[in-house]
Amino acid sequence: MGGSSPCASCKLLRRRCAKNCIFAPYFPSDDPQRFAIVHKVFGASNVSKMLQEIPVHQRADAVSSLVYEANARIRDPVYGCVGAISYLQSQVSQLQMQLAMAQAEILSIKQQQQVTELVQNQEMILQQVDAVVDHEDDEKEKSSFVNFPNYNLSYLQQYFNFAASDATANVIQDPPIPKREFLWA
Ligand SMILES: [Zn+2]
Repeated sequence: MGGSSPCASCKLLRRRCAKNCIFAPYFPSDDPQRFAIVHKVFGASNVSKMLQEIPVHQRADAVSSLVYEANARIRDPVYGCVGAISYLQSQVSQLQMQLAMAQAEILSIKQQQQVTELVQNQEMILQQVDAVVDHEDDEKEKSSFVNFPNYNLSYLQQYFNFAASDATANVIQDPPIPKREFLWA
């Protein structure tokens, strides 16, 4: 840096930009407004002191935050950065509240859906049970009014048949036994 083209700071301060100019790496000559704002809010000598107290590898970040703070202070002379931070914090807490309300609403909708599904399942089960009971009732009616007498009748028929066959069997199986004496006589 330095030499023929001075950095934005040295140009504004109308001084010769030395080879070891502390501003040169962070305030290039093509962005004069960047240093002008920092100089207006913090003062060039304060910025120089601040940068000297910071390790070289953190100076770029420090300059970025100084530029941001200076811009905030110009936009909001009363609160500066704090105004932006507290506005964003209140927005965060409002959004967190909305999120919590939305999550609670989702939970209650899910619970309602679960209850509805449970009721529907129960209704389905009850309908199935009703259908089975109706079917059983029909079967009972059939068996009590139709099947049972039939069964009774067939049972009676079987009983009588058995009795009859038993009787005939008795008749057949009990022929008069021929006397041996008679056959061999
Ligand atoms: Zn310089």
